[in-house]
Amino acid sequence: MILSADYLVTGDGATVIEQGGVLIDGDKILEVGAAAQLIAAHPDQEVQTHPGCTLMPGMIDLHNHLAYIYGRAETPDFEKYPAIQGFFVAQRMLDTLRSGVTTIRDLASPHFMGVAVVKGRKYGFLKAPRVFTAGNGICMTGGHGSGLDGSVVECDGEWEVRKAVRVNAREGANCIKILTSHGYRGLEMSQEEIDAAVDEAHRLGLRVASHAGYDPSIQMSIDGGCDTIEHGTHLTIAQAQQMKAHDQTWVPTIYVFDYCYQLYTQMGLTNANEVYRYLEEANACYRENFKALYDTGVRIACGTDTDCCDHPKATPVWMECDYMVRYGITPLQAIECATKNGAEALGMGDQLGLLRANYIADVIAVQGKPHEDIKALEHISAVYQEGNRLDL
Ligand SMILES: [Zn+2]
Repeated sequence: MILSADYLVTGDGATVIEQGGVLIDGDKILEVGAAAQLIAAHPDQEVQTHPGCTLMPGMIDLHNHLAYIYGRAETPDFEKYPAIQGFFVAQRMLDTLRSGVTTIRDLASPHFMGVAVVKGRKYGFLKAPRVFTAGNGICMTGGHGSGLDGSVVECDGEWEVRKAVRVNAREGANCIKILTSHGYRGLEMSQEEIDAAVDEAHRLGLRVASHAGYDPSIQMSIDGGCDTIEHGTHLTIAQAQQMKAHDQTWVPTIYVFDYCYQLYTQMGLTNANEVYRYLEEANACYRENFKALYDTGVRIACGTDTDCCDHPKATPVWMECDYMVRYGITPLQAIECATKNGAEALGMGDQLGLLRANYIADVIAVQGKPHEDIKALEHISAVYQEGNRLDL
């Protein structure tokens, strides 16, 4: 099968092919190039054209939570009937695919929901993106996320942390999430605990995502060898340079801070409220520092942090890209953050996140020209998952 469109963006941050095409065989991309040449070279292939569209890799959301239930009208029923959480997640997974996101990383959810989605998709019970899941997040006793209905386990000391990593691995998690700082200020996990989490996870072949909003947690997570720093709101230039040197990835989650800030504003909260003040400060950090941090060359990937609060839309990676462009990078660079960089952070940079020969055929058709106007990413007209066009 050959897909063709007015434009093709490979996801490498630079390449745009006018009248581009992708030749797909099974679940793999065989060739990428000018559509006319592909069609001439393979006249027997079915051609699916997407006029007015741009082809690009399926997007990747590195920071998601399945079935978090804060603040929704349905919350009491979620708590009473866990199956309703499953129905909710199935709906969210469909909406995620509709928004052009074909890979997500679930960084803590109740009831090993991420593992359930992976298995449910395998059994043919639901349509869902490719899911990496951390299972239970790991925090200190009383730490960030400890009140989250079984999503995060409390651990103190090296061996409790190692045990939690092993339990997650046993239950099917394929990455690990640690919560090293509080949501709004305050160090939580110790260096010894962070080091133990990373050592045990890496020993088992799992990458580690560290929730760290500010120092010293950011520096401790860098020093401990965490693979991704989540939020990193107060990341400094020197730290970004260290991360680049250590091949660590920054997942800034810009959108969610502004979204929460707007929620608080609508609720009538003001500077008198500590969280409101923190969100305002966080927004300023991203707005003022993002471009300079990007320019250090540190790998940056997209994370939406849905559904950490009552998000109206599932997995709005396009909105995260929109903030990145507003704060100084080009649409092509933002698309690279949403595709290639996410795949690299997952350890799949040699097979996912690019339109390139021998890569997995996760391809989306976007209406318009996202490489010129990033807001076009909101309008997805077709999604191909591992070579299959989804009926969404
Ligand atoms: Zn989160």
